Order: sequence, then C-alpha cells, then structure tokens
Amino acid sequence: MDLLAGIDSSRDTMAPFRFHEWLVVEVECDNGLVGTGNAALAPSVAQKVVNHFLAPLVIGADPWDYELLWQRMYRSTVAWGRKGVAMAAISAVDLAVWDILGKAARQPVFKLLGGRLKEKIPVYASKLYSQPLDSLAAEAEKYRRQGFQAVKMRFGWGPADGATGMRRNVDLVKTVRDVVGDDVDIMAEAYMGWTMEYARRMLPLLSPFNLRWLEEPVLPDHINNYAELRALGDIPISGGEHEFTLHGFQQLLDAGAVDVVQYDTNRVGGITAARKVNALAAAHGVPVIPHAGQMHNYHLVMSDLNCPMAEYFPVHGVEIGNELFYYLFDGDPEPQDGFLQLSDDVPGLGISISTAHAGNFDIVEE
Ligand code: MG
Repeated sequence: MDLLAGIDSSRDTMAPFRFHEWLVVEVECDNGLVGTGNAALAPSVAQKVVNHFLAPLVIGADPWDYELLWQRMYRSTVAWGRKGVAMAAISAVDLAVWDILGKAARQPVFKLLGGRLKEKIPVYASKLYSQPLDSLAAEAEKYRRQGFQAVKMRFGWGPADGATGMRRNVDLVKTVRDVVGDDVDIMAEAYMGWTMEYARRMLPLLSPFNLRWLEEPVLPDHINNYAELRALGDIPISGGEHEFTLHGFQQLLDAGAVDVVQYDTNRVGGITAARKVNALAAAHGVPVIPHAGQMHNYHLVMSDLNCPMAEYFPVHGVEIGNELFYYLFDGDPEPQDGFLQLSDDVPGLGISISTAHAGNFDIVEE
C-alpha cells in the first residue's frame, strides 16, 4: 500500500522504523480451530524463526499447555533469542495459542485473564506527527472533538537540530496544549532519539505543559538514565516498548526507571509473558499501558485493574505502518467518545484476516 503518500522524503526521519511488512501466524488444531497471532518487528526474519525453530516445538502439542509451550520456545532460542526478533516470533505463536484457548472455551480472551475489570476501555489517540503547527493544531482539535481524554504527540527534532530544534519541539507541545486545554492529557514520544544531555535540557523546557509522560527519551538499555531522568521530577518517564520478557521488566522496575510500563504484547513474549509483567508492575505500583492498539493489548487492559487505559492509533495523514493492522485484520473496535468496547460474545482475540485490502499486499508464505 502507499503508506508514504504525503511524506516529505527529505525530512522522513521515521524511515528506518517504518513497517512495510507484517507477519501473520496461524496455528491450526486437529479439531479445526485456528488461532491467529502476528508480529510487526522484522516480520520476514520473525517468519523464519517461527517456521524453522518454533513450529517444530509446538506442532502436536496441547495448546492448553501454553506455559510449557512458552518455556519450550524461550529456552530453545535463549542462546540467540532472548530479546528482539526471536521474542517477536515467540509472541506471535503465543498470541495464536491464546486465540485458540478463547475459541475453545467460547470466551473472549479477557475472560480467561481475569474477566471484565472495566465497563469500557479508555483509549488515547496516538498520532500527532502533523506539521506545520496549524496542521498539528487541526489534528489535535479533531481528537478533542472526538472525545479523547488523552493524546500522544511526536517530537519533530532531535539533538542534531540544536537549540532551534529544541524551541521547535516546545512549539509543537505548546500548540497541542493550547488546542486541547488543561482537561486533556498530553503524552510526548521521543522514540529513543535523545541523548542524556539533550534530555536534561529539554525536560525543564517541557515542564510547564504538564505532560502525563515523556516516552522513551533514550535508548532502552540505558536503564539508569531513565531512572536519572525520572528522579529529576520534572516529567513522568515511560518505557518498555522495546523491552522483553519478565526478566527485562524486572530490571526496569527494580531500577525505578519508569512511571509507566509499556510492553508491546507482540514483542514482550505474548500474553503468557505480558500477564506476568502485569503482576510484577502491580506489585511495584507502576501502571501498565501497553504499546500499540490491537486486540491482544485491549484484552490485557480490560482484564487488569492496573492498566488504566490503552493506546489507539487513529488513521490520519502520514501512516507509519502501525495502521497496517487495520488493513490486515477485521475485528478491531472503533472508539466512541474516547472509549473502546470489547464484546462478551466474541470468542478468542476477536480478529480475523481481512480480505478487503488483499490486493494491495504481496503474501509471502513459507
Ligand atoms: Mg512509543
């Protein structure tokens, strides 16, 4: 699909991170049930991991032994897996397994995880890449009118852009704050692009705008830097989108590195790993707001008191690839007045592969 329409390629700083592919994993049972999982992280590599290493470990097994299957996949790949694409592959298989469990039990997955803990799920509108400032203001105004109580925006400049870029970044945040007022939360995403020096200079400049959180200011392995920025007390710090497994989050939480845990279920190790991270974060008193929309995250948020809201990616202007999910799958709910609802009557994860846009994709099966 033409995801790049409208992008000025000379300023396309997201190019290395943009998704052009997506991995869909189907696990079929001998009773005919099919579970669907997916991975967006290096999909063509994850596909090879699934087919060459993971499939032989799960074929012929009972999906209700999901913990055994997870441990088998994790321990068989840990020497070269552990973090990154191998965990994305394990996550995709695990999601498919949980989809099967829900379908076999004829229950939505959230009913297997603790049940309905919310009447409906608050979601935040996560986009706001728009520039120039009047376009950004118009987009923010759209989300405000749609009833979102929280929005997440992106910075346009980084350390290489110097003081001018810092001022422009502040102008972006000020523009959104002026539009949404004080009754809507604003979060701001740095996507690991800052240095510590830059972050130390930016935080005081952003302090007047009452951000709910600053997301992934520095590289994810710089856990102590996260803790240091948190300790400054200017702005809550979030992270975990690029962290993996219970063990990774134990390090993050033990270091006091984040105010909000943001695992991505299709990276962290699937639902089997995510529910453990949920328990760990709850024990630390740190809320979990998973990275990305998508049904697997919504089921986890619905079934945990310590997950106050979910992320939602509106389709607006530039598409960076997260939107591919909407083209690949049917079933994701549409938010109304800033809330999403999950059905009590749709078993499993509640998604199916869409055919509406099939002609726009090259399907690579192996
Ligand atoms: Mg993020």
